[in-house]
Amino acid sequence: MFNIRCPWCGERPAIEFAYGGDASRPRPEAPEALTDEAWHDYVFIRDNPAGPHPEYWQHSGGCRQWMTALRDTTTHEILATAPPGEPLGGERT
Ligand SMILES: [Zn+2]
Repeated sequence: MFNIRCPWCGERPAIEFAYGGDASRPRPEAPEALTDEAWHDYVFIRDNPAGPHPEYWQHSGGCRQWMTALRDTTTHEILATAPPGEPLGGERT
């Protein structure tokens, strides 16, 4: 078991959090203009990066706020967290 630092609640057990997706890809500005194939690729086709990667997480078992977390995909260590849209600091959790 490891802890994740919620920007609002502080360090909490990882079991209180739910993964919410890749935070490295911006949502298309005009999704209605995408072809079905382009929308499919945006939703389902993912890179599989090794190392630090920004992800959306929700403190689903706590304050229910969304946040961005920088997670090392090779160790699962959460390197930093921040409210969505704010830069990820270097603070370790
Ligand atoms: Zn929280």
